[in-house]
Amino acid sequence: MIMLNGHLDEIFFSIQGEAGDLGLPHLFCRFGGCPLRCVYCDTPRSWQTREQFECHSTTGTVLHNNPVSAEKVIAHLRELLDGYQVKANQVCLSLTGGEVLEQGEFAVQIAKLWPGKVLLETSGSNAQVFAQVASAFDVISIDWKTPSLMLNDLFAEHQQCLAHIAKEGLDAQLKMVVCSETTSDEINEMYDFMAKSLPSTSIFLQPLTKVPRSPEPPSSEQMLKWLTMGVARQLNVRVVPQIHPLLHAR
Ligand code: SF4
Repeated sequence: MIMLNGHLDEIFFSIQGEAGDLGLPHLFCRFGGCPLRCVYCDTPRSWQTREQFECHSTTGTVLHNNPVSAEKVIAHLRELLDGYQVKANQVCLSLTGGEVLEQGEFAVQIAKLWPGKVLLETSGSNAQVFAQVASAFDVISIDWKTPSLMLNDLFAEHQQCLAHIAKEGLDAQLKMVVCSETTSDEINEMYDFMAKSLPSTSIFLQPLTKVPRSPEPPSSEQMLKWLTMGVARQLNVRVVPQIHPLLHAR
């Protein structure tokens, strides 16, 4: 196998703070580079690729050079887990961003080399690349991004990614960040599509965690309204806020 090189932002071991695996230990591999500019982004550093990436281990933070081969990434991840005395098959490896699909083949190679479960976390903003690589991952988490929180409307790309998941029968979950400016129409647009194409897939409404440039989080009344709209349609929806900021975890 020819080893591909890619750009990472950081690797670390922590508590999964979002969606379906909330509260479980995850090994995180954050990719560098993202073409989107979500107003709630908590990792704007990862928008650009960098010359080095950080490995946060039990002994401190060490910098390694980018680009790095998939084989070396696996070695760094193994070494990191060893420090915590955890085995690869005991935790999930989350490939996150940045936007992982900007380096889709590199991500596939890491997933193939890793002996444990691999979760792909993606914005679902590039349906063409998604269809080429999605089957390499054990679980997929797609962010449904609304126009009120984005500069672009990704509705068509989201639809195509989710249609591919439905066609191939892939294990997936959907996350939608919502804020005080989110509209019921935006929620209904997502519910319409999910009810038609993936009616039993887990949907997580995630109240926005405030960052300096972002709008306000939604009120509890808004959250309850949107939640009951989904329940009334017999969708598998729940409200799950991020917990890693509360825990001051990475
Ligand atoms: S897709 Fe993720 S990394 Fe990119 S801007 Fe949005 S929140 Fe930030």
